[in-house]
Amino acid sequence: MKVLVINAGSSSLKYQLIDMDSKNVMAKGLCERIGIDGRLTHEADGKEGKYKAEVPMKTHAEAIKAVLDILTNAEWGVIADMKEIDAVGHRVVHGGEYFADSVVITEKVLKAIEDCVPLAPLHNPPNLIGIHACQDVMGPNVPMVAVFDTAFHQTMPQSHYMYAIPYEYYEKYKIRRYGFHGTSHRYVSQQAAEMLGRPIEDLKIITCHLGNGSSITAIDRGKSIDTSMGFTPLDGLPMGTRSGNIDPAIIEFLCEHEHKNAAEVIEILNKKSGMQGISGVSSDFRDLDNAIDEGNKRAILAKDMFNISVKKIIGSYIAEMGGVDAIVFTAGVGENDRSVRWDICEHLEYLGVKIDPEKNKYRGRQMDISIDWARVRVLVIPTNEELVIAQDTERLVSEAQ
Ligand code: AMP
Repeated sequence: MKVLVINAGSSSLKYQLIDMDSKNVMAKGLCERIGIDGRLTHEADGKEGKYKAEVPMKTHAEAIKAVLDILTNAEWGVIADMKEIDAVGHRVVHGGEYFADSVVITEKVLKAIEDCVPLAPLHNPPNLIGIHACQDVMGPNVPMVAVFDTAFHQTMPQSHYMYAIPYEYYEKYKIRRYGFHGTSHRYVSQQAAEMLGRPIEDLKIITCHLGNGSSITAIDRGKSIDTSMGFTPLDGLPMGTRSGNIDPAIIEFLCEHEHKNAAEVIEILNKKSGMQGISGVSSDFRDLDNAIDEGNKRAILAKDMFNISVKKIIGSYIAEMGGVDAIVFTAGVGENDRSVRWDICEHLEYLGVKIDPEKNKYRGRQMDISIDWARVRVLVIPTNEELVIAQDTERLVSEAQ
């Protein structure tokens, strides 16, 4: 089965065509500046270099057409005809309390995704536009599946997902912790179980998805029981540009003293805070590392704040689960930044956590970086959300046939 994976944003659209028999990524690429002018970057398996072109894309439907054109292009294409695409898997950010698993897209499913728009006003609308655009261009006979960032966390017990605000706000508005990056946490926890050669049902795993956006999840016997992102992705750790959790009273204080409204302050907390806000250097950990090498004190402070926040959450999840068998690092920072991994795991020997500095030198490859005697295995596992979307799509489409 060949599955097209689509991740549609407000002005961009990422795609991968995956052959599920070989798990081979046949082609992948990105449409940018949709609605402005349009730019396509495309890579085909076995072909050197990238195809880059200005392609007019007034709408997402035009972007999908451009994707199908390049996939069937004589020089850069990897299939002869669009009909070779058996199914499409769409990344959808928010499934609210409707979806605890991926789902074949029907009218009813589209309505539920629509109902979740107030919970993810920046993300669900472009995700929906991407689905409609695919349906318009590819026709009604190509099965499509929605894979939600929130679904994996629907197993959290109520005591873990509630905020201690009046209960009626949960009933009225469904204000609660949802969690995000669920596809990534699910994938790396399953990979971890495979690496350890043990069934996931026997394991307590803490997965640290540390990238530009970061979240940590406690996975008890295969089920997410707690996660650091909350009602929105702003909760939890300080991130590239997000503050993570802060005393909520700061918002009112800033409104008053900076003469801003709540939405403007939230924008600052989302876009100008975190590593960027503290360091004044950059949201990118590579830039922070360069600044740290030059002795920049605020860059050092930003990274220290990040590392201690991760450590605190790991500690609380070990307490919640009554132990841990594996701690997994994934995403841009988790896969690549050895000093982050080292500092987070330092002084955790009494819990059975100890990284081998030699093994920790490697970047971006799946490996166990613990010293031999460590009771808790520390694993680096590159995430692969597209593969999970394609696998779910194959599973659900096959079941429906
Ligand atoms: P992601 O959101 O998973 O794509 O991660 C993006 C982030 O990963 C970037 O902002 C960088 O801060 C970080 N990153 C990528 N490569 C490296 C590296 N070699 N060393 C440190 N951080 C890195």
